[in-house]
Amino acid sequence: MGYDMSHIYDVVIIGGGPAGYTAALYCARAGMDTLIVEKLSAGGQMCLTSHIDNYPGLDEKTDGFTLGNKMKKDAEKFGAKTVISKVLAVELTGEIKKVKTPDSTFLGKCVIVATGAKPRKLGIKYEQDLIGKGVGYCATCDGMFYKEKTVAVVGGGNSAVSEAIYLSKICKKVFIIHRRNVFRATKIYQNTLKCLKNVEIYFNTVVDELLFDNKLKGIKVKDVNTNCINKIFCDGLFISIGRKPETDIFKNQLNIDGLGYIVADESTKTNIPGVFAAGDVRTKALRQIVTATSDGAVASYFADEYIQSASMY
Ligand code: NAP
Repeated sequence: MGYDMSHIYDVVIIGGGPAGYTAALYCARAGMDTLIVEKLSAGGQMCLTSHIDNYPGLDEKTDGFTLGNKMKKDAEKFGAKTVISKVLAVELTGEIKKVKTPDSTFLGKCVIVATGAKPRKLGIKYEQDLIGKGVGYCATCDGMFYKEKTVAVVGGGNSAVSEAIYLSKICKKVFIIHRRNVFRATKIYQNTLKCLKNVEIYFNTVVDELLFDNKLKGIKVKDVNTNCINKIFCDGLFISIGRKPETDIFKNQLNIDGLGYIVADESTKTNIPGVFAAGDVRTKALRQIVTATSDGAVASYFADEYIQSASMY
């Protein structure tokens, strides 16, 4: 890609989810020269959601992919540019920050990290080999492959329960495997779940083994109280046990907490001046689209302030 390696952007934003594109919208609208580096497509984790009903002002059936693309268009309308590429390394400590991809090094006066989080793996034997052969991490992406089939969902949070609800409309039968005897998911999801005839819940249960020939055939599950093993025949297994923040490339430069999140308060400021962390990637109480977009706006405000104050010296 032919990028001018000597060009210095005001702001380089890493990650094109709701935090990244809101930051881009606010930065570009405030007149800052803004670049977003996104590895896949606009929207981030939100793309995995088929129906968003906890973000104000949306049409009834807006999905995450559509919303992501709308956010991208909004930012680009004010001049923000997007590069689709994976960031491999960063150098954040100097006055001019460097963001390295396989093809280019992008320079910025500020960096906003909005890399979000990726699905956590169960860590069970053959999990990696069976991805795409029955094992998946996104029901809204892959659920249609299991039309009229039997699937299991692992987890007890909002993602697992909402995915089970989604799958119950497509699949013949849905099992939920949860390691404790109560769900972490909000009551509204749990109430919906209770009404679904084709959903069966295994509480206090963990997945012990994956059964397969050339693709998944079922799972062995273990009751954590009795150690009793059961076999569940299923065509698909959706692992929905939370997210791991995408912070590996920042570890030696930014302060990271014990769970892997970048330490930053409501100001989104990190330990390095001119570097901000917005959205799910930072330490915070509630990770939602609405809190991610809010972070994006705040990060752009402080990025602008940083650039203005730096230019005074
Ligand atoms: P989460 O809330 O962290 O829930 C993870 C679930 O996986 C928990 O039930 C946990 O069990 C279980 N788990 C974790 N590690 C496990 C392991 N090794 N083996 C078996 N089970 C394991 O994650 P999430 O559901 O992905 O949600 C992430 C964030 O996004 C949350 O803040 C959530 O509220 C939000 N979210 C919101 C919506 C919505 O409001 N529409 C939808 C999806 C997600 P324990 O309960 O025993 O810890």
